[in-house]
Parts: sequence; C-alpha cells; structure tokens
Amino acid sequence: MLRFRSLGSGSTGNATLVEATSGGRTSRLLIDCGFGLRQLDARLARAGLAACDIDAVFVTHEHGDHIGCAHALSRRERLQVWMSEGTWLATGGRDFEGRLGLARDGADIEVGDIVVQPFTVPHDAREPLQLRCTDGARSLGVLTDLGHATPHVLARLMGLDALLIEFNHDSDMLAGSAYPPFLKLRVGGNYGHLSNAAAAAIARAVHHGGLRHVLAAHLSEQNNRPEIVRRAMAEALGAGEDEMLTANAAEGSPWLDL
Ligand SMILES: [Zn+2]
Ligand SMILES: [Zn+2]
Repeated sequence: MLRFRSLGSGSTGNATLVEATSGGRTSRLLIDCGFGLRQLDARLARAGLAACDIDAVFVTHEHGDHIGCAHALSRRERLQVWMSEGTWLATGGRDFEGRLGLARDGADIEVGDIVVQPFTVPHDAREPLQLRCTDGARSLGVLTDLGHATPHVLARLMGLDALLIEFNHDSDMLAGSAYPPFLKLRVGGNYGHLSNAAAAAIARAVHHGGLRHVLAAHLSEQNNRPEIVRRAMAEALGAGEDEMLTANAAEGSPWLDL
C-alpha cells in the first residue's frame, strides 16, 4: 500500500512523507524538509512518526522552504539524502559524510519499496527536480515549484493515482498585491510558480478515472485563498468544491491512501 501526507506546505516550508508497506516491510521517503529540525520533529510526531523512521530524504531544489534542515537531519540521523548535483553545488557542496546521492532526470532511485522517478521542471533554481513515486502498483506525483508545465512534465504525470500539485497564487491577487514589481514578475513568470489557472490546467490534463486524490499545495498566504483554489480544482476535475483538498502551512494534510 502506498500513502502520503503533507507535513506542511507554503512559502515558509514544505515537507511530504511517502510511505509504502508490503509484506510487513515499510519504506518511508521524506520529500523536502523545509523546516528547522525542531519543527520537523514536531510535525513528524503529529504524523505518528519520528525522524528515525525515515529511510531517505529527497530535496527537490535549494530554496530554503525545501532544503531546510536536510544537512543537519542527515548528520543527526545518518540519513541518505538525494538531490541533483546542481542543487548540491548551489548550497555550497557541503559534506554529507558519504550519505549524499546525486539524482538526475530519468534515473530511478530505490528507497526500500518506493521507486522515485525524478524529472526536470522549469523553476528559478540551479537544477530543480520534481518526482513521481511508485510501489509498482500505485503512483504519486509531487509537483511544487515550477513556472509552467512542459510536455516533459505532463508526460511524467500521466496515469497517476494521486497528485500533490502547487496552486501558488491567484493571478489577480498577485497583480494587485504589495509585492514589488520584480517579485511579481519572478513569482508569476515562466520560472516562478504556478497560478491557480495554470495548476488547474495541469490537473485537467492529467485527470483520469483512476486519479483518487489531488492535493493542492504551496498556496501563497498573501496572494491566494483556499476557497479560490478549491473552486478552480473543482472546475478542472468536475467534482464538488467541498471534496477538494488543500494542504496548509501549519498542518499540511491528513494521510491519503492510494
Ligand atoms: Zn517553494
Ligand atoms: Zn522554489
């Protein structure tokens, strides 16, 4: 069985747990750890887990709301950490004491029973990757932090059982916000973050009868509201607004089974 849970998502920090159980064995991957160590421990505890229960960490890119405490966590727990070479170099090429794995687009990684399939996304980081995770039976797509959908991104998201996807901002709220012009251009640009409309278009493109969960994540606190996101999701997926799931910064989401 495959299940996942956001431990919190937003511009202040992101972390997602993926768990596969088969034949009495459980494998756990933490995707991003964009919090301080103490915060991460508290959030893991709310999910009924401790850091020692994690088998590996995958860092999608070097922005602080994703890489967070990866280095300290790896040292404390002697944990394997995966990231692209560009992400590693962008954060100063730190010493992970032999526990760093270099990930790249198209090269599968095995974390116990979880197969991680990283793919390249357009975002203003050095070599950002997002992921598809599978236990062989079910598949989860994780897609935060990208400026726009490419054919490559869409191809990697076909046939999913669940998708965690960034619904970052409402374009009108961003345009009318107090953000300085350069930041509006950055966030709304081709290498920034997905607007609700852009995310809804991706959800619509990858939607099929077997897609059980779509979890909206990385919502801007200034330039978005959960009810606007739920409306956009419901329209895209042809379902009721009250069935739509959004992860928040403080609590993330409940466990979602695939
Ligand atoms: Zn981010
Ligand atoms: Zn980012």
